[in-house]
Amino acid sequence: MRYDVVIVGGAIVGSSLAWFLREEGFSGRIALIERDPSFARSATTLSCASIRQQFSVPQNIRLSQFTLSLFRRLEEEFGAGADIGFREKGYLILASDDGLPILEANHAVQIAEGADIVLENAPALARRFPFLSTEGIAAGSFGRSGEGWFDAHALLMLIRRALKGRNIDFVKGEVTGIDRQADAVTAVLLADGSRLEAGAIVNAAGPNAGAVAAMAGVPLPVEPRKRSVFVFEARESYPDMPLIVDPTGIYLRPEGAVYITGGADPEATDGPADPLDFDPDWPQFEEIIWPLLATRIPAFEAIKATRAWAGHYDYNSFDQNGVIGPHPEITNLFFANGFSGHGLQQAPAAGKALAEFLTHGAYRTVDCSAFGYERLVEGRPFRELNVI
Ligand SMILES: Cc1cc2nc3c(=O)[nH]c(=O)nc-3n(C[C@H](O)[C@H](O)[C@H](O)COP(=O)(O)OP(=O)(O)OC[C@H]3O[C@@H](n4cnc5c(N)ncnc54)[C@H](O)[C@@H]3O)c2cc1C
Repeated sequence: MRYDVVIVGGAIVGSSLAWFLREEGFSGRIALIERDPSFARSATTLSCASIRQQFSVPQNIRLSQFTLSLFRRLEEEFGAGADIGFREKGYLILASDDGLPILEANHAVQIAEGADIVLENAPALARRFPFLSTEGIAAGSFGRSGEGWFDAHALLMLIRRALKGRNIDFVKGEVTGIDRQADAVTAVLLADGSRLEAGAIVNAAGPNAGAVAAMAGVPLPVEPRKRSVFVFEARESYPDMPLIVDPTGIYLRPEGAVYITGGADPEATDGPADPLDFDPDWPQFEEIIWPLLATRIPAFEAIKATRAWAGHYDYNSFDQNGVIGPHPEITNLFFANGFSGHGLQQAPAAGKALAEFLTHGAYRTVDCSAFGYERLVEGRPFRELNVI
């Protein structure tokens, strides 16, 4: 079997790409390969499904703005009733005195990109969010519009359903090898022994992307990093609470009638995860997160944690930013990887950009050149400072 484009990974990145390829008028044969179509352990499903414009580099803001524009015309694109439960409640990113210069610099970048973010000092924050303790807080940046959260699985299903009838082969299987001849990849090999010849291969394997790249003999610094998410109940309800990011990196936000919270492991213990380890790190909640929540929102001293889950970030250990585009030498091998905790909101934009590249040979809507693989070869980090 021969395909013009073989996409490895059928979750949000792979499915978005397939959809935009057809939208761009790509008429070649497409295979979308997924080893687990339940997506139970995909980052997409286990994500906190939030979207923001509060990044430190303009290119990340532009990717999220593209996705936001898609959210605003869901029914136009996917038909009447299309809904992903988008709650536009904003992000509130808090900074201590130490973090203030970075917050201010990021805010200037965001404003220049047209983002609706306001920077407020501690007294103003206390007025806007009376439940918040501003102890140790110098200022915060708040997204008045264009930021919030949504239902990740609903978005994935919307796109997957839209792919039906668009002449895309959904292949259930695990890619275990990639054939390469000199400067071209030529086929993927599946665990069941089948071989699909490929005009181009796109790595959309999420946290497993480093392993998939290695099958083609290509290094890619993307690894699974475990992140736990804790669900808790509180007596108090704050309908206008945004997604709050504390200077410690711990975040929380409402989720219907409950709240969710989490944060990276302390740097000393963070590192590549066992790809099969999905056990939530309860001591992190007990020892680090809960005490912080009780300080930041005094009413949260009396909360009840009800459950938790863990997922894996597709973590780019080089510079915590996506790697998007072709390999500079193996030019029919493409990446859409390493989004480091912001890949759900960037997937539609990355899919659109790659679809344009594969169809027209160039980016048209969102220029993704800054995310290119070349920077890895040249040792030139393109660092995102706002990694949550
Ligand atoms: C706890 C948590 C919270 C997050 N919160 C947010 C957030 O608030 N906002 C945000 O934007 N992002 C967030 N993210 C990140 C976001 O979820 C990911 O960046 C994004 O979902 C990546 O999408 P993907 O399609 O590349 O990866 P995945 O969703 O992991 O999909 C990759 C797919 O590839 C398949 N696959 C892998 N290897 C193979 C193979 N060899 N053969 C066949 N199939 C294969 C897998 O089964 C999987 O379905 C979060 C992630 C986690 C874990």
